[in-house]
Amino acid sequence: MNGPKACVIGWPVRQSRSPLIHRYWLRLYGVEGSYELAEVEPHAFEAFVRDFAARGLVGGNVTVPHKEAAFALLDAAEPAAAELKAANTLWLEDGALRGTNTDGFGFLANLDAAAPGWEGRRRLAVVLGAGGASRAVVAALAGRGFARVAVVNRTASRAFEVARLAGRAGEPYGPDDLPELLAETGLLVNATSLGMTGKPPLEIDLAPLSRSAVVTDLVYAPLETDLLAAARARGNAVVDGLGMLLHQAAPGFERWFGVRPEVTPELRSNLIDNLLGR
Ligand code: NAP
Repeated sequence: MNGPKACVIGWPVRQSRSPLIHRYWLRLYGVEGSYELAEVEPHAFEAFVRDFAARGLVGGNVTVPHKEAAFALLDAAEPAAAELKAANTLWLEDGALRGTNTDGFGFLANLDAAAPGWEGRRRLAVVLGAGGASRAVVAALAGRGFARVAVVNRTASRAFEVARLAGRAGEPYGPDDLPELLAETGLLVNATSLGMTGKPPLEIDLAPLSRSAVVTDLVYAPLETDLLAAARARGNAVVDGLGMLLHQAAPGFERWFGVRPEVTPELRSNLIDNLLGR
């Protein structure tokens, strides 16, 4: 196979859906190029990335557990990576290793596409969880101009740390504060791993939540989580997490292969088939 070559680097990496997404776009746009899985142990990560050019790679995606290590290797970081000190998209430019973090972009692009007007009056967004995904979401919401971004987390120290990423808009809370926050929120985001297949359920009483609030879940397996089902049943607009996964892939594809790709209904349906093992 000729043309630019990219990859996704992780440990483990077999579960990654990135090849399915990028190979779909390569076919759709008739681009000669390839996208591979690269299973790389943490101790070998730096050498692998430093060898990009020798391996014929123009860049790649980085997934767990390498995102912080990838950031540390960059010659130049885009603001989104610098803010989070984690990179998920790398490319070579004039011999320099550059990188960004597209999770926040993917999160916003998904809501923009699936629920136009989701921002409402940008008063209060409530984000459940303070892990890696929450960091990107919290920074992105502050960047979109939300006046308040509440980070609700079981472990208080992490809520404080992540809320700081939203600057003056960031507010750390514990689970007991949730009912009061829900009464005021325009956007509720689940960025915990709760509700995911194989994980404990997310137990949350949506009664105080306004019917005009938008509810989104980063968990996409199952596609309709209990949170989204409950929110939909009471009349809230809901957005699933699959779109974030699809949209976050687009900037990398454009860097490596020179085409700004579209998240098509066909791509989404291919991903759903894959998630369902069809
Ligand atoms: P992570 O770094 O491991 O963070 C997990 C978060 O969930 C932490 O805030 C943790 O709280 C909380 N949590 C876990 N178990 C809990 C429990 N029993 N009770 C209360 N809180 C609990 O994970 P992540 O990388 O941020 O990912 C979070 C979820 O987002 C995953 O399901 C992942 O698949 C999904 N995700 C989706 C996309 C997408 O494109 N849609 C992208 C990234 C991630 P503590 O801090 O208290 O431990």
